[in-house]
Amino acid sequence: MGVVCGDAGARPLIAQFGAEALARTVREALGEARTALAAGGQVAPTVAELLSIASTRLEAGARESLFPVINATGVVIHTNLGRAPLAPEAVAAAQAAAGYGNLELDLESGRRSARHEHLDSLITGVTGAQAGLAVNNCAGAVLLALAALAEGAPVIVSRGELVEIGGGFRVPDVVAQSGSALVEVGTTNRTHLRDYQQALADHPAARIILRTHPSNFRITGFTSAPALDALAHFAHAHGLLLVEDLGGGALVDLAPYGITGEPTVQDSLKAGVDLVLFSGDKLLGGPQAGIAVGRRELVDRLGRHPLARALRLDKLSVAALAATLRLYRPPSDPTSRIPVLRMLTEPVSMVAARAAVLMAAIEATPALEATLQDTQGYAGGGAMPMQALPSRAVAIRSHRFSAETFARRLRTGATPVLGRIDQDLVLLDLRTVAEAELAVLAEAVQLAS
Ligand SMILES: *Cc1c(COP(=O)(O)O)cnc(C)c1O
Repeated sequence: MGVVCGDAGARPLIAQFGAEALARTVREALGEARTALAAGGQVAPTVAELLSIASTRLEAGARESLFPVINATGVVIHTNLGRAPLAPEAVAAAQAAAGYGNLELDLESGRRSARHEHLDSLITGVTGAQAGLAVNNCAGAVLLALAALAEGAPVIVSRGELVEIGGGFRVPDVVAQSGSALVEVGTTNRTHLRDYQQALADHPAARIILRTHPSNFRITGFTSAPALDALAHFAHAHGLLLVEDLGGGALVDLAPYGITGEPTVQDSLKAGVDLVLFSGDKLLGGPQAGIAVGRRELVDRLGRHPLARALRLDKLSVAALAATLRLYRPPSDPTSRIPVLRMLTEPVSMVAARAAVLMAAIEATPALEATLQDTQGYAGGGAMPMQALPSRAVAIRSHRFSAETFARRLRTGATPVLGRIDQDLVLLDLRTVAEAELAVLAEAVQLAS
């Protein structure tokens, strides 16, 4: 150890990273070498080798681990790639909020105010709800809503909606964590109003019917569930609240763009749902957040619950969410201003035009062969991952590397590029690539070739 750190070769590393960090890293590398030796492995590393290992690790540790990538997968709301990319207005707002700001201060009176005041009128204005509250994410909003409104009383959920969304969000577990007992009704494929009636007769203390959007899961064929308005009517006639976990949170009707089966938040409110819960970074196209909208009295109960403090939004998200919601207010057209909506609604001819530009830029690269290909992108994001979007890709065959190796070289370049592999070809889908990224994307392809 001392020999290694006292070596002349250690000096620049000590100067750059400090003696302590170097000693810790060398100790780790030595430990690993000893384990390998004991296992009958390689010969002991030299001092120079140990310093080289330490140098690689220290440099990797000093770099940021989170950086921008080019999403050429064609999956618009890609959870692994950070879901919704923010609109420039939201980025600017978050940046402006990064330092000191009037997050919880009324500048006129000089008195304390609440951070959600920056969002209240925007949320109600855009959704038409009486009141709204934003917390850390939709999972948090569901937990908070059940904890604050059921207060330990049983929660009724259809068996067809007891889903797992991914990332550990399972409806039965969230109900349990909220402190309520779950009352399952109906069957996997069919649930009727009379099932809810029976559940209520068996569990008269129940206070809430929870309706969940099945998101990344579809039951097809012989299925049925009560219409939302009928369920709301039933709930109210029996003194219950209907809470809906909508997930995706579309605020504009996407059906005219060929995206069907994704109800809007406004539809749910109109159907009589008492409290609608949805994500900020799926179809809304903003930062990670969970939004609850509905009757003022219910939203206020959520706001007063101790969990609301534990789940509150940070200032960057407050700012980015407010700026995103502003883009929904007329005369702004959200489908052109919000990246997620723009990508979802863009005509395939415009995607094809970008594919042609990329194609022209890489065509002459000697080590590869590129062709244009009609393909399918996906909305993704848990809300409606199977919703296919017609798209156009540049399909690349490398003369030097297998599709897997070429895809890895693209992923690990200076600007990481994510594509998808299809039958020995690497497909770069242009639906999720912005015009401004084309030059960098072409360069990344050439570097990896
Ligand atoms: C995605 C989703 C969630 C979780 O939302 P987060 O914002 O990721 O916490 C909850 N419920 C449904 C129905 C979803 O689709």
